[in-house]
Amino acid sequence: MASSSRAGMPAFDDPKLDALKRTLVTACHILDREGIADGYGHVSARVPGAAAFLTLANVSPGCATVERLIMLDLEGRYLGGAESPPNEWPIHACILKARPEIMSVAHTHSKWSTIFSVLPIKLKPIHHYGKFLSADGPPVYEGVGLVRTVERGNELAAVLGNGPAVLMRAHGDAVVGESVEQVIERTTRLAMLGEWNHLALLHGEPKYLTAGELEVYNADQRFPMRGWEYFVSRLGGRR
Ligand SMILES: [Zn+2]
Repeated sequence: MASSSRAGMPAFDDPKLDALKRTLVTACHILDREGIADGYGHVSARVPGAAAFLTLANVSPGCATVERLIMLDLEGRYLGGAESPPNEWPIHACILKARPEIMSVAHTHSKWSTIFSVLPIKLKPIHHYGKFLSADGPPVYEGVGLVRTVERGNELAAVLGNGPAVLMRAHGDAVVGESVEQVIERTTRLAMLGEWNHLALLHGEPKYLTAGELEVYNADQRFPMRGWEYFVSRLGGRR
């Protein structure tokens, strides 16, 4: 596939993108290592200053390498890299277009998000790991099936709204953030919270964190890299 170059758009092999590409590959490996992504799922990163993004080509996150990344514009047009876009590229394109302030999106088929996407029970914060969520937990996008069209991508982005995460019914989730590292932290915490909600619910109605309590946690908006460093350490030599 021939790549098209655009004014002001860095080329896929521009050395300025090297660090971001490596971070994206590491992000994919973390989701695999933590048992969240299985054979499917992808993470994207906005190309700084451009209407474009880097994401994983049509391969499993555990098999990610720099050579298996692809660059697309926000309309899904090919700009360089591996030649097969992920089936669900509209998830990234449509959310990055709708949310200019966010830099990264992750989509996984997380079992915990899937379970809570089909239950009448919401996945809500029961630990400060969930402080990025609202007290009501993430909304659910009801449209089932893969998000392979811009129309469906826009529907998903509309349900996400200004929030950090959206569950996708009978499918998984999409999580956004100000950096790849923050998105990975949020995606792993969302899965953890799903499991803990499930365990707590076995015993009765959990005492969820209230909006006021979450506000206290959120008074500190620093994003420590400690979580990311921990997850990277669990990859061992694989990076
Ligand atoms: Zn999917």
